[in-house]
Amino acid sequence: MVLDAPGARLRAAETRPPELRPGQVRIRVGACGVCRTDLHVRDGELREPKLPLILGHQIVGTVIEGDAALVRGTRVGVPWLGWTCGECRYCRAGRENLCDRARFTGYTQDGGYAEEAVADARYCFALPDGPRDEELAPLLCAGLIGFRALRAAGDAATLGLYGFGAAAHIVAQLAVHEGRRVLAFTRPGDDDAQSLAREVGAEWAGPVGERPEELEAAIIFAPAGELVPKALAAVARGGTVVCAGIHMTAIPSFSYELLWGERVVRSVANLTRSDGHELFRAVREHPVTTIVEVFPLAAAEDALDRLRAGAVRGAAVLAVGDPRGRRRPGSA
Ligand SMILES: [Zn+2]
Ligand SMILES: [Zn+2]
Repeated sequence: MVLDAPGARLRAAETRPPELRPGQVRIRVGACGVCRTDLHVRDGELREPKLPLILGHQIVGTVIEGDAALVRGTRVGVPWLGWTCGECRYCRAGRENLCDRARFTGYTQDGGYAEEAVADARYCFALPDGPRDEELAPLLCAGLIGFRALRAAGDAATLGLYGFGAAAHIVAQLAVHEGRRVLAFTRPGDDDAQSLAREVGAEWAGPVGERPEELEAAIIFAPAGELVPKALAAVARGGTVVCAGIHMTAIPSFSYELLWGERVVRSVANLTRSDGHELFRAVREHPVTTIVEVFPLAAAEDALDRLRAGAVRGAAVLAVGDPRGRRRPGSA
């Protein structure tokens, strides 16, 4: 499925498989998660994508050719971080997520809304056995960025999650495994998101604006800047508000009082490979359940439409080669 220009509908196309460069692998895609970032690229909110582009950075598939370090037949996951330079000040400091020259899967290089994909073997992750491809796919970004955001929230015992979709439904489970209490804030009247939150371990779920109790940290997954002062107002002194999205609408001005008391506002950007190794170690110990809504590859636009409308419960996933587009819960 090819994006020709921002704002254009994805179209099905036959393209010539690219030749492999040293260190790359060719992967037969089993499933590819649909992320809000894909929507930002599709709609032109993220600038200067490679064009034409194959979206998708939550790929689960099987190695069919390439680098000897990854044996043919191995199931791997391909995340958003596709390549880093290894030389810049960030790479040298162990912060490859901020690399000056980083390349991103499904944005600055082709991704996984396709039957085959090519990836640098060093950036692929080994995956737990057991769960189906479509159950694992959301871990490759929603899980990973969520995990990085959870670490950025520090050791907060009472955690607020703003926006309850693909990332939050995974993070809530990770947080509960770590002994934290989770409170979920959704759009008023979004009963579906609130019931999902309770299902995956949130102690309380309700509309933004209600204040059940003081939070020690908050993570904002919704791309809505007006949530920043609201979350700041809900966290205790010393608490952190983590903005986990790659794009957010403008943040309205707010009184200094909301930041006073050593409150912190920060973002998380991208991921490092060590985030991935840590996350997959964690979910091997404590499996998480992903709630996925599955679409066939050809229905990628439908999946994006539902995501744009806020209608997806949990995570949207393209099952490549699977004509059944239906909702089913799974265990990852
Ligand atoms: Zn670098
Ligand atoms: Zn993503």
